[in-house]
Amino acid sequence: MTVTERFLKYVSIDTPADPYSGTHPSSSCQFNLGNFLADELKSLGLHDVSIDDKCYVYGFLPATSGLEDADNIGFIAHMDTAPAAPGIGVKASVQMQDGIEVVATDKTTLLGADDKAGVAEIVTMLEYFVEHPDEPHRGIAVAFTPDEEIGEGADNFDLSKLNAKVAYTVDGGPLDELNYETFNAAGGVVTVNGYNVHPGEAKGKMRNAVLMAADFIQAFPFEESPATTEGYEGYYHVGDVRANESKAEIEFIVRDFFTDSFNARKKFVSDLVDKMNEKYGAGTFVLDMKDSYYNMREKLESHMYLIEKATEALRQVGYDAKSVPIRGGTDGSRLSFMGLPCPNLPAGGQEMHSVNEFVPVKALIDMVEVLKILSR
Ligand SMILES: [Zn+2]
Repeated sequence: MTVTERFLKYVSIDTPADPYSGTHPSSSCQFNLGNFLADELKSLGLHDVSIDDKCYVYGFLPATSGLEDADNIGFIAHMDTAPAAPGIGVKASVQMQDGIEVVATDKTTLLGADDKAGVAEIVTMLEYFVEHPDEPHRGIAVAFTPDEEIGEGADNFDLSKLNAKVAYTVDGGPLDELNYETFNAAGGVVTVNGYNVHPGEAKGKMRNAVLMAADFIQAFPFEESPATTEGYEGYYHVGDVRANESKAEIEFIVRDFFTDSFNARKKFVSDLVDKMNEKYGAGTFVLDMKDSYYNMREKLESHMYLIEKATEALRQVGYDAKSVPIRGGTDGSRLSFMGLPCPNLPAGGQEMHSVNEFVPVKALIDMVEVLKILSR
């Protein structure tokens, strides 16, 4: 089966993640693809194929003779699609866009190249090695995960079921980019405790939490917000405020690529809360802040050969790939800190999370070649 045929099959199985269900996987439809993939890996003859009750699929293709002692390599892709765009009833086809052959939908739903392109490329690479037993390759461990799009793809990942000590996620965009740097991330809620009385009799009594919250929010530097930063610049972001006179809750996040400035940003927030409490009285502002993920670069610096090999493999297939920092996190950043160094390879999709999402057919074909080179 060609990688394009396989990709069209996978995107026909709807798998939107559900951020509100609280279940694992977040949507039971992900099992439709998970079970399909587990069956496909079994029929290809992979070893130790399993799907667990959280919808994680694992499998292993043993090394060809002579390479048994080489380190195994892992490849990981996610099965769910982004809930931010319509993802039910995906109808995809091969189309011409701007003179190139792409897979896209009828523009009523997203496509799901993020990340079924990655899944299709990995399975097609496995099929190639199964059908060409004379082609040498090291042991190849694969995993397909649920719920990456709601930040939970690493939560229930069982590293003991992935027969490799290093891996790549295949979850990026165009083939001229790869990633091994992500933000350090923290976030939380600041609660503002006010005091309400009737506005007509409020003089000297009301302590309006709405105004105190506004004072706090105004203190964040505007030039360090998402709308004013790019590249390696970090930011503060207030994403939601619920407020009345008695009580306000301010949701915020902090993002930074570098440990020192990440810690300085967190200190800025806690110092600001202290300052507000000096101004408005002890206990008025209460801070609840937690770290959510860290820059995987720290864990990859001792495994830079993974980035070098990937850059060289992409070069051999015709791409001058640059390492681009991800202004967000990946499952790989979580997995790297769980003990599995895991940079991110491209998968080829573009305009992801939108009804205009597409993947060039050539990108699908070329990524299969890249994965083959990385498995040798
Ligand atoms: Zn993705």
